[in-house]
This record gives sequence, C-alpha cells and structure tokens, in this order.
Amino acid sequence: MTPIYLDNHATTRVDERVVAAMLPYFSEMYGNASSRQHEFGWKAEAAVERARAQVAALIGAQPQEIVFTSGATESINLALKGLAENAPPGRTHLVTVVTEHSAALDSCDRLERAGFEVTRVKVDGWGLVDPDDIRRAITPRTFAVSVMTANNEIGTIAPVGAIGSLCSESGIAFHTDATQAAAAVPLHVGPMNIDLLSLSAHKFYGPKGVGALYVRSGIRPSPQIDGGGHERGFRSGTLNVPGIVGLGMAAELARREGAGDAKREQELRDDFVGRLSADLEGLTVNGHPDLRLPNNASITVEGVRADRLMLDVREVAMSTGSACSSSSPRPSHVLEAIGLGPAGLASTVRFGLGRFTTREEIEKAAECIIAFVRRARAGQMAVEIHPEQ
Ligand SMILES: *Cc1c(COP(=O)(O)O)cnc(C)c1O
Repeated sequence: MTPIYLDNHATTRVDERVVAAMLPYFSEMYGNASSRQHEFGWKAEAAVERARAQVAALIGAQPQEIVFTSGATESINLALKGLAENAPPGRTHLVTVVTEHSAALDSCDRLERAGFEVTRVKVDGWGLVDPDDIRRAITPRTFAVSVMTANNEIGTIAPVGAIGSLCSESGIAFHTDATQAAAAVPLHVGPMNIDLLSLSAHKFYGPKGVGALYVRSGIRPSPQIDGGGHERGFRSGTLNVPGIVGLGMAAELARREGAGDAKREQELRDDFVGRLSADLEGLTVNGHPDLRLPNNASITVEGVRADRLMLDVREVAMSTGSACSSSSPRPSHVLEAIGLGPAGLASTVRFGLGRFTTREEIEKAAECIIAFVRRARAGQMAVEIHPEQ
C-alpha cells in the first residue's frame, strides 16, 4: 500500500492539469525558445511568455520582472550573491534571519568568506522575527535584507509587509524566499515592498527543477550563470520550456485555487492536530499559533524518538525537518532557534498537508501515530527489540 503523503513541504505531487499542459512541449512543440527563425522556436517562446505572465500574476508583478531559474535554491543564490556583487561601493552588509533555508544561510556563509558581513537576526519562541530587530540590524553599509515569507519546518509566517516597508524607507533591497508561501499566502510585491522573491514549482504542484526569481525593474543582481544572455542577461542557459510551462500552469492554479486549498488544508490540519492532542499527552505544536501556514504541523512528541516514529509508522510519509538537510545528521537549526533542547530536537516530526490530502487520510494517519506513540510509551518499542534498525 502506498503510504499517506504528509510531506508536502519537501515536495508536492504534480497536478494532472500541470502534466497535461507540459506534455506537448516535450515531443511536439520542442523548439528552443531562443530560435527566432522558425515556428518551433516561436511556439516555445510564446509558451514561455504565457508562463511568465502566469507567474507574474500570482505575485502581482509585471511579466518582464520574472526570471526563470532551476528552482528556489538557484533563485536565492542569484538574489543574494547577485545583489552582493552588484552592491555600490562600501555596501558590504547583508541582514537575514537565523531560521532561513540553507540556500540562503549557505549563500550568506559564502559571502562572509568573500569579505561581506552578515547579521543573522534571531526569532522568538514561535519562530517570529521582529521587524524592529531587522531595523536595528541595518547599518549604513547594508545593501540587502533577506527574510523568508513562511518557514518550511514550523510554518511561521513572517511580517514581510512591515519588513518590506522599512527596507523601502531605507532604500535597501528586500528579498523574500516565498517558496513555501507562494500558493498559500496572498503575495503582492507592490504593496508589500518586495524587491526580489524566490519561488519553486515543485512546492506547489508543479515539476521539480524549475522556479523563478522576481526582480523589481531597476534592480540588477549580477548574473551567477554566464552564457548566451537568456532571461535579459540575468540567467543564461537554454530555457526548460516544458518545466516553465508547468510552473506557469501551477502558478495559475495557485492563483485561482490557492485560497480554497488553504482553507481546506487548515481544517484538515486542525482536525489532525486535534485528534492527536485529544488522545495523547505531552504534545507541543511548534511555530506561531495563528501566523502560520495552513498545511503545516510541526509536533514534538515528548519521550518518543522521531526517527523511530517515522520508521515504524510506515503508513505515513512524514519527516523530521527540512528534506534539504535530512542527509546530514545536524539537528534542525530552526528548532534550535525556537529554543528546543536535545530531547525536543530528537522527538519532533513535521507534517505537511496538501491539495490532495483527504479527510480519510488524516483520520488514518492520526490513528496510526496515536497507536505507535501509545506502544512506544508503554515501553513495548524499546530500541533493543529491533536491532536491525
Ligand atoms: C524547498 C525550499 C527551497 C529550495 O527549493 P528548490 O526548488 O528545491 O531548490 C528554498 N526555500 C524554501 C523555504 C523551501 O521550502
């Protein structure tokens, strides 16, 4: 039996409508979008431009402000390194937050090694960053501020509008990693004063390996990939036409259905958490109680090892944290930042619901987890009984 998929922060199933939109661009309209001399190229280019408008519409941008990339990791690298490289003389300082995705934090580490200065602002116990802390971190040398819209582990949504306006007052570029938020949180780059925004198709029912960076017109991050000058020089390389078409369709669906999806997911998530808390003692839901993604539940189960829970409850696909760092045994920097100690870190699981999650699945998942936790707490699941694990 296929497990119940509750790991939608790691990636999502591609919507059938997205697959259908992409298919013709593999073997029928397979032109290079840069081929200006024939119909194959024109059709590919038209499809890319349609997708550009669809992505722009999702976030309230102009189509010409969208740069297609290979995903959010690349978009974030382009935004942060590109802004650093093109910063005016004397502007050598970047402000970010401790709970950012590794794509941002590791880019910052590299910038530090190259001589830039980085301030990593702390968050409160809910994972919320205070805009006043951002304001205090800004110096006359600051060239950019980067704060994620919604956290991929605990779901907390940052006060992006407030941070955007204080950056705009100080004339500092503001980038947000909206990868988890794009489909669930209404985003309008104009009123929110967002100058650059990263997103990725596979986090909202599109294909893997394609994403976008919104770059407000007038802002010019230095390209990080050189070549034929595609994407107005911001990102060279033959465009991934089927992927971009998929991203466009995913964005269109998110724009039309995102609010409805979010409402449904939130009801199911609350029901799921409610079932677990009704039957189990010692549960803590991490992240902000209200300012949070509708589909996220990060739960610390006191006295139960998260790795055991995940291995034993085969019926449910869940995770301990960010898929991007699951290969490294490092404890979650996000859970550490909100104050969890070693015991909490070892007993936290992340659930991510999605467009295709059903009530039946939620009921079944809750049942399996409750049963496991009861067995584990009754001591029948001691590690020694399963030496193979
Ligand atoms: C998944 C994710 C990324 C990385 O996106 P890719 O397209 O997989 O490179 C970056 N930031 C956040 C918040 C994410 O959830």
